[in-house]
Amino acid sequence: MKARKPVCPYCGKPFDPSPFHPKQSVCLSPGCQRRRQSEYHRGRIAADPGYRQQCADSRKSWRENHPDYQRQYRDTHETYADRNREQQRGRNQKRRLSLIVKNNLALNVKRLPAEVWMTGPGLDVIVKNNLAIPEVFILHTVGDFIPSP
Ligand SMILES: [Zn+2]
Repeated sequence: MKARKPVCPYCGKPFDPSPFHPKQSVCLSPGCQRRRQSEYHRGRIAADPGYRQQCADSRKSWRENHPDYQRQYRDTHETYADRNREQQRGRNQKRRLSLIVKNNLALNVKRLPAEVWMTGPGLDVIVKNNLAIPEVFILHTVGDFIPSP
């Protein structure tokens, strides 16, 4: 009687393991092999600091050998570049707000019994990111204000 063929965990199909790798657990289809490799890579990056550093060095050296790649990619992929710019704007806003919060802790904050009205461009982002709780009000200025650390 023939031994049962192993089943690939990714595509669910039975396959013949290579005679050179009798413990092979994933079939040889390119999609399944790519998935196996990327899962191995991700797991090793999480577990092995030396490997993680080696991969970071490799990416750094590739970028140094291809200095125009990222600029050209952004020039030819407008949607990607727009989305990236929008996300960066959000990260910058968040960073600015955290600096303001840090810098305000040492200030003598006075209570204002007034309502606050804001006007100007970019209010949709500012309104969302202003913190208003009974004891503390943090009001972000309109424009590219970055407080010194
Ligand atoms: Zn497979």
